[in-house]
Amino acid sequence: MTEKPSMPFEKPATPDDKLILDTFDHDEEPFITVDTKLCKDCRGKPCLYVCPAQVYRLEGEELVYNIEGCMELGACIIVCRSMGNKAIAWDYPRGGYGVEYKYG
Ligand code: SF4
Repeated sequence: MTEKPSMPFEKPATPDDKLILDTFDHDEEPFITVDTKLCKDCRGKPCLYVCPAQVYRLEGEELVYNIEGCMELGACIIVCRSMGNKAIAWDYPRGGYGVEYKYG
């Protein structure tokens, strides 16, 4: 078992303090794809609000996404299926790729 490193913070760390220490090994194979044609008439665009990594954003009226900072939470696929237009195809990155959490 790997020993966790000690916390490099003098005060209690906020979630943002901890998340900034995470590292990513980017998978060239896209593990998230979005059929953005379906997003055009998605009313609430809930994916914009649930992703802590801000993978999804609007450029003008158009939904764009960048999966490089994906934390593999999966909240986007849940809200897209339940409240959106089912535009997201989501899977985990291939083994060995993706986010590596440092704390928690
Ligand atoms: S929730 Fe789904 S359909 Fe709606 S904007 Fe986001 S990705 Fe597109």
